[in-house]
Amino acid sequence: MRHDIKLKYFKTRLEQRLKEITAEQQRRKDGTAPVELDQARIGRLSRMDAMQQQAMAKAAARLTDLEKQRIQSALLRIRADEYGYCVICEEEIAQGRLQFDPSVLLCISCAEEREAG
Ligand SMILES: [Zn+2]
Repeated sequence: MRHDIKLKYFKTRLEQRLKEITAEQQRRKDGTAPVELDQARIGRLSRMDAMQQQAMAKAAARLTDLEKQRIQSALLRIRADEYGYCVICEEEIAQGRLQFDPSVLLCISCAEEREAG
C-alpha cells in the first residue's frame, strides 16, 4: 500500500468520474440509435451528416467505456491495497501521473512500451 499518496483523494476523484460517466452513458443511449433512413424524419441533417455524427458518437462512447473499465479496476485496486502500482511491472506509478489521470494502471515506461509495440 502506498503511503506517499492520498488514497482517499484519488478514490473520491475516481468515484466522481464514474458517476459522470454513468450519467453520460445514460444520456447517450438515445443518441446512438440507428440512423433513420427516412429523409423527412432527419430534417435539416443530411443522411451523411447523421451517419458521421453517429460514428463520432460511437467512437466517443467506446472511449468512455474503456475509461469506465479503467476506473472500476482502479477502485478495485484501492480496495485491494494495490492502487498506485503498475499492473505490469509493479513499480510505483508517479504521483503526477495519477494526479493527471487517477485511473491510470500503468507506469510511464510500461505505457510507452505498450504504445511503441
Ligand atoms: Zn510498469
